[in-house]
Amino acid sequence: RQDRPPPTPEEREARRVAREKRLAARAASVPAITYPDLPVSAVKDDIAAAIRDHQVVIIAGETGSGKTTQIPKVCLELGRGIAGQIGHTQPRRIAARSVAERLAEELDVDLGKQVGYQVRFTDESTRDTLVKVMTDGILLNELQRDRDLRRYDTIIIDEAHERSLNIDFVLGYLKQLLPRRPDLKVIVTSATIDPERFAAHFTDRDGKPAPIIEVSGRTYPVEIRYRPLVRVEPAKTPGKPDVETEIDQVTGICEAVEELWTEGGAAERAREGSGEDILVFLSGEREIRDAADALEGMNLPGTEILPLFGRLSAAEQHRVFSRHSGRRVVLATNVAETSLTVPGIRYVVDAGTARISRYSQRTKVQRLPIEPISRASANQRSGRCGRVSDGIAIRLYSEADHDARPEFTDPEILRTNLASVILQMTALGLGDIARFPFVEAPDSRMVTDGLRLLHELHAIDPEEKDPRRRLTDVGRRIARLPVDPRLARMMLAAVDEGALREVMTIVAALSIQDVRERPLEKQAQADQQHARFKDEKSDFVTLLNLWKYLRKQQKELSGSAFRRMCKNEYLYYLRIREWQDLVGQLTTTMRELDLEPNSRPATSDQVHRALLTGLLSQIGLYDRDKREYLGARGARFAIQPGSALRRSSPEWVMSAELVETTRLWARTNAETDPAWIEQAGAHLLKRSYSEPHWSRKRAGAVATERVTLYGVPLVTDRQVGYGSI
Ligand code: ADP
Ligand code: MG
Repeated sequence: RQDRPPPTPEEREARRVAREKRLAARAASVPAITYPDLPVSAVKDDIAAAIRDHQVVIIAGETGSGKTTQIPKVCLELGRGIAGQIGHTQPRRIAARSVAERLAEELDVDLGKQVGYQVRFTDESTRDTLVKVMTDGILLNELQRDRDLRRYDTIIIDEAHERSLNIDFVLGYLKQLLPRRPDLKVIVTSATIDPERFAAHFTDRDGKPAPIIEVSGRTYPVEIRYRPLVRVEPAKTPGKPDVETEIDQVTGICEAVEELWTEGGAAERAREGSGEDILVFLSGEREIRDAADALEGMNLPGTEILPLFGRLSAAEQHRVFSRHSGRRVVLATNVAETSLTVPGIRYVVDAGTARISRYSQRTKVQRLPIEPISRASANQRSGRCGRVSDGIAIRLYSEADHDARPEFTDPEILRTNLASVILQMTALGLGDIARFPFVEAPDSRMVTDGLRLLHELHAIDPEEKDPRRRLTDVGRRIARLPVDPRLARMMLAAVDEGALREVMTIVAALSIQDVRERPLEKQAQADQQHARFKDEKSDFVTLLNLWKYLRKQQKELSGSAFRRMCKNEYLYYLRIREWQDLVGQLTTTMRELDLEPNSRPATSDQVHRALLTGLLSQIGLYDRDKREYLGARGARFAIQPGSALRRSSPEWVMSAELVETTRLWARTNAETDPAWIEQAGAHLLKRSYSEPHWSRKRAGAVATERVTLYGVPLVTDRQVGYGSI
């Protein structure tokens, strides 16, 4: 490329004309803009002025006030989106698609034209797109090819209060980028949770914080009722204290819905067509389904029960936003807390929990426990019902419990493994993570752990002093794969082993929730169904068996018969679909890196050797006395019931998932081989020698070699000659 001669004046002129033409075409494609009656619309001129006068603007406002849907329009009206696109990031995939759809609808354009979206593996945007909605992960990924984000002239970081690792990283990156891109405008929007933090992060050259525009929402009073999950009955014997018994969450939800059903004539009003819908917040999909089943069983007249969580298909999600008659009970995860506005909500039931990922410093394990939500989250949830008129929120916990909760949820950067962020930063040549301008700096121990994991995966060379050369070839390739670094490592090793097809299937299964269902009251039946796929030595092979079975059934059965079969055999259809999609997407991504899946089936050894490269710190040696496994760095774990290895207890195992609950459990496991470990972990081994002596047999000095990986002895009594030490 360097040999190419500099452009002639004619060529330069031709380019200028072409560019001008393109810009003119973009400008001409801007649709007519109107604003619905929303709080943001009322202050749109103030917002426009702030964007004109400042490089960064913070906009804080109640959920539903129009930040997400109206601010891109304000930008378009300002003439932004022409020289470069308006990038609009969302923390969740489900929201990215839904926001783009809504925006296209309000602007009366086809989705994928002026308004497009991109989420992992799906790109519904073109070069002509003016507003591109995407997950923050996509924006991060684009950095690898477009360091200065040249394709954008405006970036809106929406839902910044979520403080995901991606958001924090993007905010840090933008802070560094802004001086290099004086023409770039950044708008950070947030629910009314601590916007000052963002303003202080984006100080201008004079040290002045970025301006904050607060959008006051129209909110109506919300009555909070505490209904903890206990039932108090008077003592049978007089004088004794009352008897408190716990009730389960599903019962609590049903009772709350019943209470709200007849509230002040709600049922009559609903018949007259006023919005009397109920939004229930739960921690996850399973909880949602359990509650949905119970509510269906109540046979409430004229009522529709609707689940809302990330995994639903577009059509299923759309139902929540569609007009309807009759009453609705929407069961949602915290996606409905601030990301998506469910219309017509008059009542909220809040179970008070969410799944929050946590990293255990002690065991180096990432977990996804269900935890009590913060007071800020509880406030957001109850606020969902004060939008159209006054509302009622029932919290399934006590006021004392509420008051004892933390004010905010910790940002993810303080509770997650940092390996993938450090890898991204290294790949981008950002240098020392300790000097990166994070909104909130991570704990240095977490940084150390992240670096350690990257070294384990062979992604970085810690000995390399020059930070620009620290990334290995493996690391560079891992950074380009949109999965967890451990899983990416396995796929790369699988290419060399000729086992990519199998390993992609396993990696996809490990990236989603188990497709096998074990309903509480039918566990034995479910286990019996699933036992057919079980491989005695490897839960991974079990997954492959299940995969093959599903493929075969799908070929033979009609769509509806296949769904019925799934239900009967305790397999979760939606997750199977997700599994298959993910395998397809991984295949595409690998192809883009010129890595083709094997056409011949791989052997079990090939598959397991590839998997091992991602699991070197999750191996275990059986301790017969204690009947548990000795793992890396002194960790001790047991095989979880349900794993095929529970019974056989082989001497060596590797585990894809260590889960810390009452104790450390190994969930998805396979037998492994210390010789393989020695080979795959060669860069991590510690060797020591003892008892040097003269060997007559070898006619030389020998010693006993001991080889350990993270303190787990792989070899204890290998006789080696001095020459080889
Ligand atoms: P914010 O980002 O401030 O929470 P939004 O811009 O998402 O607010 O929503 C503003 C209003 O637009 C909501 O109150 C809702 O009534 C309406 N709205 C947003 N998305 C949709 C949708 N997909 N379908 C119907 N109405 C919607
Ligand atoms: Mg929003």
